[in-house]
Amino acid sequence: MSGILWDELVFGPIRSRRLGNSLGVNLLPGSKKICTFNCVYCECGWGEEIENKDDKLPKLEKIIPALEKRLIELKEQKFDLNSITFAGNGEPSLHPEFVEIINNVLQLRDIHAPQAKVTCLSNSTMIHKVGIREALMKIDNPWMKLDAGSDLMYRRINKVFKNLSLSEIVENLIKMKGNLSIQTLLLRGEMDGEIIDNTSEKEVEVWIEHLKKIKPRSVILYPIDRETPLSKLEKISDEELEKIADKVRKVGINTVVYS
Ligand code: SF4
Repeated sequence: MSGILWDELVFGPIRSRRLGNSLGVNLLPGSKKICTFNCVYCECGWGEEIENKDDKLPKLEKIIPALEKRLIELKEQKFDLNSITFAGNGEPSLHPEFVEIINNVLQLRDIHAPQAKVTCLSNSTMIHKVGIREALMKIDNPWMKLDAGSDLMYRRINKVFKNLSLSEIVENLIKMKGNLSIQTLLLRGEMDGEIIDNTSEKEVEVWIEHLKKIKPRSVILYPIDRETPLSKLEKISDEELEKIADKVRKVGINTVVYS
């Protein structure tokens, strides 16, 4: 699978079940995934570790006018926009101007689409940087990835490029003081003879212990939805997703399933 890449800075709006009418902002290049992870289920396909990424990224002075132009068009069409969403070909917070971009986008939202939420799908690997963490805490929907309970399963699923442990990620998520939602993709499969499974009783138990410490506003669970780079992955049934969601609800955390 080669993967789906967004080739525009601003794309959509697309209809999202989680976000409604969502206008996407892609801070990464149109031709390549740039991410600190290489998740086995990534819809962008397999990636590679990239050095000197900054000169390949679109600049703030291109992104902001492109977004403003689209927001004005949508306002003139009286389009009901629900979310301006940072998503696309990799991890948005890797962009060196991420903090300024967030501040600018919040201003544009207030002027042109005050009803819309600002959402960022992030893999949680850059929030050791205070500025990035605080920028994410300012927006309406920081949706932070946490796909595993154990470090072993995290490394098998997310295939992190840098030497960053799951416990470091959890510690940084705790520092967001509850101003976040956690997004988790549940799956089973196998790669190079190694089992991939974040749905086992033991894994779920440890993952819930992390959630209890992170205290997110909500947890968003979902299964594989599209083609994945690794073919040996199984889509988890709605019934099983709901069972896991119930375990999280039991510890008092609002949990939503998108199957
Ligand atoms: S964090 Fe997102 S963009 Fe990065 S590899 Fe995983 S699924 Fe793909």
